Amino acid sequence: MGLPKLAVIIPCFNEREVIGETLRRVFKVLGELEEKALVSKESYVLVVDDGSKDGTWEVIRGLKSKYGNKLKGIKLRRNFGHQNALLCGMLESEYDVAITMDADLQDPPELMEEMVKLYHGGYEIIYGVRRERDVDSNFKRISASLFYNLMERMGVRIVKNHADFRLVSREVVETLREFKEVNLFLRALFPYLGFKGKELYYRRRERFAGKSKYPITKMVSFALEGITSFSVAPLRLILFSGFVLFLVATLLSLWAVGVKIMGRSIPGWFSIALPLYLLNGINLMAIGIVGEYVGKIYMEVKRRPRYLIEERL
Ligand code: UDP
Ligand code: MG
Repeated sequence: MGLPKLAVIIPCFNEREVIGETLRRVFKVLGELEEKALVSKESYVLVVDDGSKDGTWEVIRGLKSKYGNKLKGIKLRRNFGHQNALLCGMLESEYDVAITMDADLQDPPELMEEMVKLYHGGYEIIYGVRRERDVDSNFKRISASLFYNLMERMGVRIVKNHADFRLVSREVVETLREFKEVNLFLRALFPYLGFKGKELYYRRRERFAGKSKYPITKMVSFALEGITSFSVAPLRLILFSGFVLFLVATLLSLWAVGVKIMGRSIPGWFSIALPLYLLNGINLMAIGIVGEYVGKIYMEVKRRPRYLIEERL
């Protein structure tokens, strides 16, 4: 067997300011990998433009003359989200091994060498894991740690502090292809596939330029997505809290009967109004959670394509 053909897959959403520098650094490392005979000379970089509105695609097209065949591009028709852009890159190109990486240089391209070496050592998935999050804001750090703990509690197997910087072999991707789910949460899906994996630690850098494409709203919905597409624990929680409430109500009835027997009357509006608000709140929340899953089923049965390609480069 010859050397593996490597594809470096980079999803981009409004990354005009960074993509040039990112490609420069990635190609430098790729050149070294080819030189050291770790990957084949046919290796390349694939940029997936996830519906950018800032002219990212034009920049990529402009760089084509500089990098020639080494640079490939896929332009999606609109913004499909990070996960779908990644999926598109992995499913729509040819390679023996792929590395996915953010466009903003927070994941150091220099780590690719270590990843490829581990791949040669027999691992099929290499997870890039952030060792320190010192460059992230306090808020991001705390919310991330909350999220990973919650996921763990709900029984989702997930690699802590691993984002989407990872190496996967062809076989892994072909297995992933069988998973047709529309609600895609790759971080938990890869460990689920059961391949021999390895964690590789690194220090996450600061974004090279531009702003994060994950505002708080997107982060919350991403977290919800992660939990609801991998676990039905929230549904069980409803059942459980219903049971607890039932117990409490039973005790309260006993108390009410006792008070009645003793010939006193049950104190005021409080005993009526408070449970009314409380229980209604809980009820709505429960319906909301069930609704979240119903919505998921709705999206899944539609089986809409997860991405639409407008142009290839
Ligand atoms: N991204 C994307 N589609 C989106 C949002 C983000 O392809 O809808 C890409 C983005 O261009 C970047 C990567 O996903 O390459 C990670 O995004 P970002 O760096 O903004 O997230 P953060 O590091 O702040 O979590
Ligand atoms: Mg980033």
